Amino acid sequence: MSSLEIRNLHVSTGDKEIVKGVSLTINSGEVHAIMGPNGAGKSSMAKAIAGHPDYLITEGEVLLDAKSVLEMESDERARAGIFLAFQYPSEVPGVSIANFLRAAIQARMAEGEEIDAAAYYKRLYEKMDLLKIDRKFTSRSVNEGFSGGEKKRSEILQMAMLEPRFALMDETDSGLDIDALKIVAEGVNHLRGPNLGVLLITHYQRLLNYIVPDHVHVMIDGRLVKSGDRTLALELESKGYGWVKKEFANA
Ligand code: ADP
Ligand code: MG
Repeated sequence: MSSLEIRNLHVSTGDKEIVKGVSLTINSGEVHAIMGPNGAGKSSMAKAIAGHPDYLITEGEVLLDAKSVLEMESDERARAGIFLAFQYPSEVPGVSIANFLRAAIQARMAEGEEIDAAAYYKRLYEKMDLLKIDRKFTSRSVNEGFSGGEKKRSEILQMAMLEPRFALMDETDSGLDIDALKIVAEGVNHLRGPNLGVLLITHYQRLLNYIVPDHVHVMIDGRLVKSGDRTLALELESKGYGWVKKEFANA
């Protein structure tokens, strides 16, 4: 069992404080959803946890199995098992998905260790079968001419291959169609299990109809102002965020 513990996290970019003291513990096997209006600081929090250099952690801790990751570079955090999904929207023309994933896995291996090609393809095809992805897909160039759904599919496949302990999934794409939503949901549902913890960031209640979270948290103005179970997501859909803000202001 692993845990990712976020303790009193404060994050700044430039000289502006964006995340203002978030505490949250995710255990392996759990899916936590963070919802909240645009600009609340959800993406900044995820990027800071993953070690993005533009997001400075000014206070607090991020502990992976009780060990701080704050001194680690982003690639070390990835190697330690923290995966940030939905963050590489750029095209990589001429590089097939199969080769891209192979390079990503190689990059996470210890120095001097080499990927075994036969074992790699065996595992790749196993994951593709699990996720019901057509074999032809891996010869496509990364993101080149991809639909929204195909981008999500390649990201989910990447996650399946890297087998992170904690996946931070930031649903940034506001124009996501229902097919893409379903691909994300099916992927996460296939991958969720006792060895994976998920932090799913979304402003779509709809996504949570397909991925049923164990815990739902609401982020407003850099703080988690309310937590609950999946019914909280339903309540937010019907009532919006205003009542949570009022409740928090009066507390
Ligand atoms: P959310 O994901 O909840 O919509 P973000 O974390 O993207 O919120 O943004 C929170 C606030 O931080 C916004 O006001 C946004 O403009 C600001 N912000 C985020 N990233 C940067 C950045 N790299 N430089 C300057 N401001 C940023
Ligand atoms: Mg965001």
